[in-house]
Amino acid sequence: MAEITPVRKKRVVVVGGGVAGSLLCKTLLNDKHLDFTLIDSKEYFEVSWANLRSMVEPSFAKRTVINHHEYLPGASIITCDAIGIEENHVSTLEGRLIEFDYLVIATGHIASGYVTKAEKLRQYEAENEKIKSSESILIVGGGPSGVELAGEIAVDFPTKKVKLVHRGSRLLEFIGEVAGKKALDWLTARNVEVILGQSIDFSSSSDGVYQTSNGEEIMADCLFKCTSIPIGSSWLQETFLKDSMDDFGRLKVDETLRVKDFENVFAIGDITDIPELKQGYLAQRHALLVAKNLKLLSNGCDESALVKYVPASPMAIVSLGRREALIQIWCVTLVGRIPGMLKSKDLFVGKTRKQLGLKA
Ligand SMILES: Cc1cc2nc3c(=O)[nH]c(=O)nc-3n(C[C@H](O)[C@H](O)[C@H](O)COP(=O)(O)OP(=O)(O)OC[C@H]3O[C@@H](n4cnc5c(N)ncnc54)[C@H](O)[C@@H]3O)c2cc1C
Repeated sequence: MAEITPVRKKRVVVVGGGVAGSLLCKTLLNDKHLDFTLIDSKEYFEVSWANLRSMVEPSFAKRTVINHHEYLPGASIITCDAIGIEENHVSTLEGRLIEFDYLVIATGHIASGYVTKAEKLRQYEAENEKIKSSESILIVGGGPSGVELAGEIAVDFPTKKVKLVHRGSRLLEFIGEVAGKKALDWLTARNVEVILGQSIDFSSSSDGVYQTSNGEEIMADCLFKCTSIPIGSSWLQETFLKDSMDDFGRLKVDETLRVKDFENVFAIGDITDIPELKQGYLAQRHALLVAKNLKLLSNGCDESALVKYVPASPMAIVSLGRREALIQIWCVTLVGRIPGMLKSKDLFVGKTRKQLGLKA
């Protein structure tokens, strides 16, 4: 009788366990033809847009910080920074070499430095103590993080004096001018003082006195830095993908979400150069599409069968405390309770947990 040689499963290495990487891994779990290894700098996935709520309500983080093993039982997970790629393996900081047939890069932004879930939960407790024990709070950065944090504090702690300093000429520069103006009006109406066109010189600030670029002094009991987090692409700079990045360090992808000119390397989420807003719900779309394409390829399907990605039209929601929010869809911008009903109560946490097969 002829012996049947078992077909080896194709090995997928996913680097980055954020919004995109976590959903991709969940979708590939128990696949008949694919085995994956997730490499992430930290041992948990975090619903990143919920972290401002966790600063005013630390118990909220118990649902938003999820150990990778909780939603990927039995999976191969390596908690370590990836530091390079050579031919068909990824190298990690602790010296391991992980072989792949397909590689998916999902390192949207560098990690916060808190490796364990317990450390991350303690960070929220500490930040909450800082807020509670301060009368005056300085927030630096007027992008979505700074605006959402100012909104959370203004609603939960209305007697605190909050100042927000932003180097740009308007808030929320990633979306339209009207949105920036509406966010400014909303914050100002809740006694948040917004200072535009100035930055904070951290080197010359001490003992609760902060120097602005205009030479003004701001006194504050505590400070929160909400400036943008760098893209997680520096580890690629010495690899064969170094010429596949644009000027912002984003990977250039084709419509199948493979890095241009590479047949077996995909990129998903904020690290891609797809011409659309960098949003988590889009990172999740990329993940689902790449899961399909990996399954097609591992089933021996023809290149022409691969699914193609169409960039999304612009839509973003910025929460403003627990009930209100600001939404921009195309060129329509609304602020108040109606957009708030979409995001601000649960911040899509229940929905995200369900996508990972967990209780909402
Ligand atoms: C305040 C705020 C509010 C937002 N609100 C929304 C919203 O309402 N809806 C929405 O859809 N989007 C929202 N976003 C955007 C959303 O958070 C991002 O688009 C999303 O997190 C991108 O997902 P990602 O998987 O590409 O990257 P990330 O979620 O940043 O994940 C990257 C992962 O890569 C890992 N990593 C990085 N470098 C390495 C390395 N060298 N080795 C190993 N691992 C590495 C990190 O640990 C991390 O786990 C918001 C963002 C902010 C800041």
